[in-house]
Amino acid sequence: MSARREVLAPERAPAAADDGNDTDAGSEVTASDATANTDGGERAGDPVLARPVEPAVNPADLADEVRLRPRRLAEFLGQPQLTDHLDIVLEAARRRQQPVDHLLFAGPPGLGKTSLAGIVAAEMGVGLRVTSGPALARPGDLAALITDLQAGDVLFIDEVHRLPRAVEEVLYPAMEDFQLDILIGKGPTARSIRLDLPRFTLVGATTRTGLLTGPLRDRFGFLGRLDLYAPEDLTGIVLRSARILGIEIEPVAAALIAARARGTPRIANRLLRRVRDFVEVRAEGSITAALATHGMELFGVDELGLDKIDRAILDALCRRFDGRAVGLVTLAQCVGEEPDTVEDAYEPYLLQQGLLQRTPRGRVATPRAFTHLGMEGSAAVPGHEEPAATLW
Ligand code: ADP
Repeated sequence: MSARREVLAPERAPAAADDGNDTDAGSEVTASDATANTDGGERAGDPVLARPVEPAVNPADLADEVRLRPRRLAEFLGQPQLTDHLDIVLEAARRRQQPVDHLLFAGPPGLGKTSLAGIVAAEMGVGLRVTSGPALARPGDLAALITDLQAGDVLFIDEVHRLPRAVEEVLYPAMEDFQLDILIGKGPTARSIRLDLPRFTLVGATTRTGLLTGPLRDRFGFLGRLDLYAPEDLTGIVLRSARILGIEIEPVAAALIAARARGTPRIANRLLRRVRDFVEVRAEGSITAALATHGMELFGVDELGLDKIDRAILDALCRRFDGRAVGLVTLAQCVGEEPDTVEDAYEPYLLQQGLLQRTPRGRVATPRAFTHLGMEGSAAVPGHEEPAATLW
């Protein structure tokens, strides 16, 4: 087989396949396509990637991320319900000696969807191929990939909601009947041929289930939703990562890092590495609670996991606008960011933490935001808002 294949025998690490080994030089299908594009198209060089609390994969972190990726279901911490269900699905397929049904993993970036795809392949002892929705620009791209699969293989499509429509239509019969209809030639001489495919397992990942078309969603036999991680699970992940990276850390310090990681393993791992850098340069020995707190403060990450821009947004809402509703464009200008960036990268966590509310008149800080900034009281009460027209 070509260099693009990677068979994951139990002792082989799925991360090895993720590490770019399963790609053709000439192919658009690469592991970094699959990871770098995960989070709404952020790319290397985007300033937003410099945030220590950004859930998107940062190219500089890629190598560590591959090392830290859990390889077996037992190593995957947290998400107990999902792993329990997945365990049953995998065991049932193993007993029937059949490939696993197509699986869809949904949830915010950095929660472990790509890791789970690797785990499925490793647990089934089959090969893993990695690609992403945007990398499959034409039906031919998918055909080339899919005809190269071997029986039982896992095909992982990250950002599956971004598959072009024409590619999606080729995927339907492939998923359902393991058949591929390809059009050969152009114009009146074009003819369609049907190819039989080996039975394979498609694992799709999406950060936006709402954008998935109904027909595609219906063709998955299992939908696993990943939630933000509980602090104790994230603490376990920080301790595990520290062990793998050879970092000495006290359990209380791991808990402090976990508490600031926005419920996201990728952020927890990144904070751990930044604190490690700080301790290596400015201190010595293992990471204590005091050093962890100091290190994270140095990188501008506060006890809720907010960074400088998050706090600037709250500051504008609470101090400058005194709790009144503020339009997105105005707010973005106040903090020197694009409105889209504020909406996609900053707001979700502030909303989720109950620090900010969206109203028809604009964005409003909640009482919790005032408390977080150490301000008393809140003007964010109905009737206190200025007419939206003055604010947009
Ligand atoms: P996603 O595909 O959802 O963006 P990934 O699978 O790439 O997320 O996970 C990002 C990183 O977070 C991985 O490299 C891994 O180190 C870590 N990670 C994610 N989930 C877990 C978990 N349940 N246990 C341990 N580490 C995890």
